[in-house]
Amino acid sequence: MINFNQPHLTGKEAHYMYEAVSAGKLSGNGRFTKACQAWFENRYGFRKTLLTTSGTDALEMCAMLCNLKPGDEVIVPSYTFVSTALAFLREGAKVVFADSMKRNPNMDAETLEAIITPRTKVIVPVHYAGVACDMNAIMEVANRHNLLVVEDAAQAIDSYYRSPIINQQSPLGSIGHLAAFSFHETKNITAGGEGGLLVVNDERYMRRAEILWEKGTNRAEFFRGEVNKYGWVDMGSSFLPSEVNAAFLWAQLENIDDIQTKRKALWNTYLERLLPLAEQGKFTLPDIPDYATNNAHMFYLVLPDLEARTGLIKFLKENGVCAVFHYLSLHSSEYYKHKHDGRELPQCDRYADCLVRLPLFYDLGIDEVKHICDLISTYYH
Ligand SMILES: *Cc1c(COP(=O)(O)O)cnc(C)c1O
Repeated sequence: MINFNQPHLTGKEAHYMYEAVSAGKLSGNGRFTKACQAWFENRYGFRKTLLTTSGTDALEMCAMLCNLKPGDEVIVPSYTFVSTALAFLREGAKVVFADSMKRNPNMDAETLEAIITPRTKVIVPVHYAGVACDMNAIMEVANRHNLLVVEDAAQAIDSYYRSPIINQQSPLGSIGHLAAFSFHETKNITAGGEGGLLVVNDERYMRRAEILWEKGTNRAEFFRGEVNKYGWVDMGSSFLPSEVNAAFLWAQLENIDDIQTKRKALWNTYLERLLPLAEQGKFTLPDIPDYATNNAHMFYLVLPDLEARTGLIKFLKENGVCAVFHYLSLHSSEYYKHKHDGRELPQCDRYADCLVRLPLFYDLGIDEVKHICDLISTYYH
């Protein structure tokens, strides 16, 4: 059976984890945590970063930093993972769902204006499959209405937005006021199964982010010698991972270019081999707009309808390949459907019914990808 996903080991993880243990300092914010954070800040120009125990945690920190009042509204795509919405719901906000674009599952910037009200405070674009949302359009709407932008960049490590106006590439996660990454085992790089990163790009949130992370204390300032004692100064929780997880992540960061090169080779093999079937109209291939780059997080197909997708998944399973569908629309979920305002979100529902993801992970062989493509070709002939 070819799995859908398999976490990759670079070979140095155990070594660094052993080093962390031998150093006698295992709790968070030690040498490896600081090294990882500095790496993200240097490589991607993020203003300030804090490792977290998950992408969900990083989103929860973002939501806390937005300082929402009951009744404040947050715009989230309906085609996303539960955590994108849940992080803001926990803060007492009302979640207002946006539809996806016709061309890809990302939030449709053109539908935002119609759902913004005087209570709207935040827009949360999710870079689905690591492919950038239309960030110029989203930032323009946000600036016009004085809204915060929190990028859910959980899938978007090492991916960029190319501004069509200024000829420049911005790393995803560096554009909004705040951003969240995930290092769950299903993502391109992992911190040992679970992990995440909060990115603070707007200076106004830097001090408070550190306090929330340090369980509501100003301990970080104390350790830097900026205050002569530390205590309870704000809200907070335990968001920081242990050094063991940071050490695992460090081994992956050292190898990120190799990981990305391999994933892109697999991704491009899928693209090349499945293009003829896409041209025959059997399905559509992943869409990467001119303003986006590809970080090879995911290879998906969009089938014409639910029945077609069910048929393909069943056929692949019978032939030893695990292909899986993805999100169900959050606006019609058991938990939220009664709170949703009743607007139809047809593109989101279409992706919920028709999108299927093919196996993609570092240790998958090019030959296995070719085999999967051959199977799909057989299915359609
Ligand atoms: C993976 C993911 C998350 C959650 O990240 P965890 O690290 O699993 O908590 C949130 N949003 C999106 C879009 C994701 O893909």
